[in-house]
Amino acid sequence: MWPRDAAAAACFTFDFDAEEVWIGEDPANGSRPGVLSQGGYGARVAVPAILELLERHQVRATFFVPGRVAERHPGRVEQIVAAGHELAHHGYTHTSVTSLSPEEEEEEMRRGLEVLRGFSPKVTGYRSPSWELTPVTLGLVEKYGLSYCSNLMDDIRPYRHPGTSVVELPIQWILDDAAHFWFDGAGWTNTISTTADVRSIWQEEFLGIRQMGGAFVLTMHPQIIGRPSRLALLDAFLGYVKSHEDVWVATAAEIASSL
Ligand SMILES: [Zn+2]
Repeated sequence: MWPRDAAAAACFTFDFDAEEVWIGEDPANGSRPGVLSQGGYGARVAVPAILELLERHQVRATFFVPGRVAERHPGRVEQIVAAGHELAHHGYTHTSVTSLSPEEEEEEMRRGLEVLRGFSPKVTGYRSPSWELTPVTLGLVEKYGLSYCSNLMDDIRPYRHPGTSVVELPIQWILDDAAHFWFDGAGWTNTISTTADVRSIWQEEFLGIRQMGGAFVLTMHPQIIGRPSRLALLDAFLGYVKSHEDVWVATAAEIASSL
């Protein structure tokens, strides 16, 4: 099913949440510099380092960005677009759509898109800030001219949502850096995995998806994968995926539009 007779597809996606992931969870975090600095690291250190790695491996990736992050860090979003990567929609604020009214959800969609299209006219993808949909989400995706979503876990290949023009590009926790590395002072319940463990998990899942002819969609967050030890993991892993010449490495939009 893949272009160039490839056995499988792979894409690298980054949810550039920066400070908004904490503000979306609790607006009071907006006045807590210590909390926000976790996301600030993503903009300050991680994104430039990630862009350098992607350039070195000649990989074009997809960056899902909340509109407010683009307003707060316009220079970083300009760098992402200038390097040839795909810019995609990740809300205006980083608020779970399940906590919004239909009107509020539409305002998030409209405002986020307005900001992002100021950076790139080619915004076609939507990932909700919680990987969750409401009864109105797919209708909004269509209404605002987007063509694909990347939120659900029910397949390993892209598919079209019945009765709509919207393509789903499925994701999964196993391929999310947050599931393996997330830790913050609010919980103290998570453990931080070693990069060796995560490399092994991702390589095994990659080989399994390749064997089944699926699309390997890796979800990462600059503030998480961009720690120095994990940049080394990403460097090695990009090389590993690229060494499989039968795998089509593309952006999320390219993979979704191949359906
Ligand atoms: Zn996010």
